[in-house]
Amino acid sequence: PASSPAGPPSTAHSEALFARARMVTPGGVNSPVRAFKSVGGVPRFIASAHGAYLTDADGTRYIDYIGSWGPMILGHDHPAVRQAIGNALAGGTSFGAPSAREVELAELVTRLTGTDKVRFTSSGTEATMSALRLARGFTGRKFIVKFRGNYHGHADGLLVEAGSGLMTNADGPLGAAAPSSAGVPQEYAGLTLVTEYNDPAALDALMAARGHEIAAVIFEPVVGNAGVLIPTPDFLAALHRVKASGALLIADEVMTGFRLSLNGATGLLGLTPDLSCWGKIIGGGLPVGAYGGRAEIMEFVSPQGPVYQAGTLSGNPLAMAAGLATLSTLEADPDIYARLDTYTARLAAGLKDAAQAAGVSISVNHIGSMLTAFHLEAPHGSVGTYTQAAGSDTAGFAAWFQGLLARGIYWAPSQFESIFVSAAHTDTELAATLDAAHAAYAAGWA
Ligand code: PLP
Repeated sequence: PASSPAGPPSTAHSEALFARARMVTPGGVNSPVRAFKSVGGVPRFIASAHGAYLTDADGTRYIDYIGSWGPMILGHDHPAVRQAIGNALAGGTSFGAPSAREVELAELVTRLTGTDKVRFTSSGTEATMSALRLARGFTGRKFIVKFRGNYHGHADGLLVEAGSGLMTNADGPLGAAAPSSAGVPQEYAGLTLVTEYNDPAALDALMAARGHEIAAVIFEPVVGNAGVLIPTPDFLAALHRVKASGALLIADEVMTGFRLSLNGATGLLGLTPDLSCWGKIIGGGLPVGAYGGRAEIMEFVSPQGPVYQAGTLSGNPLAMAAGLATLSTLEADPDIYARLDTYTARLAAGLKDAAQAAGVSISVNHIGSMLTAFHLEAPHGSVGTYTQAAGSDTAGFAAWFQGLLARGIYWAPSQFESIFVSAAHTDTELAATLDAAHAAYAAGWA
């Protein structure tokens, strides 16, 4: 259904919109990776989305593997979510006063994740930024630790050796020392200590030397923002040891929360963080973030405690309704995660076959419905660290990406991102994707 018959489909409308957009918006986009800078070509302007498909401004349909970068786990325009948003809309769009849906979503999130208390924000960035402020307020310490290539949104102190768009930002210092963005003062970045993901010895050494000064260690429990990196058991054990120093362990589940299980990556991996951050899926495609944890810590948040945090649109009724419908639908379908897992595992195997048939080396990391096909030969079959991931053949990836796009597959437009499978992806989409992957490797590789 999403294949291109004779010749590539027209992109004239996307091109015209991109030209207009560049006149009035930096780079023509409202979030950098959307500009296709690292893969080239015209970013597709999307007109509509249903199920597993996107339709662009020129009327071309694509099988979507971005899912709005994570939120759309049920597929686009899911009937239960649409209905819930419609019901909420009829009652008004924003109150600036508490309402029942905020209580219901907080009850659902705390029950599913085993958290005592949760506070809603309007983005994942706000959630991680606020969780760090809380950790500093609670511990009275000022340093934080993050991992190279992990991305936690764009708060100043977190734009330090960060992943996601920062890994392909041609104007930025790729892989360079902190900070990763202009406009972040070195003094501020200096409060963020960085070490390597999946290196337990390095984390232990850092905590031994500086643990008494560290307010929090923030981490992606499965990394999506350097491409998918899966934590080793030894690294998980080292994360748990962090707590002995009095630093708080903050799991950034903005991407993995409700995606890898109803209790996120931490539930799947048996981690018990002090604080967690959520976003994406808990808003069902509308803008939401959240952070939560044990009552004794969360009670430091205003108005109960001294750590200030607020938001005009926090707990927005439409966003709460979309989140409630999404999480309730996930909870009501006990097999959903197994089905996502099966699709993704078959996709991974098929991609390896497609690359191998064309004599191309790839290494596919996948877990649950997250997957990255790194264009490199990993020494032990899987990519474990940011440094390894950064060695990928990005030009080769870009050629393959364009091959997929021309054949109706909308893959993540960067080597260093996860793709996301949704519950709307079926055998039909899998077969079409693998056909396109074979053809793209056969045709697009010099
Ligand atoms: N944390 C992680 C792990 C993310 O993947 C992201 C976004 O991709 C964020 C935080 C920031 O969330 P937002 O883009 O909603 O601000």
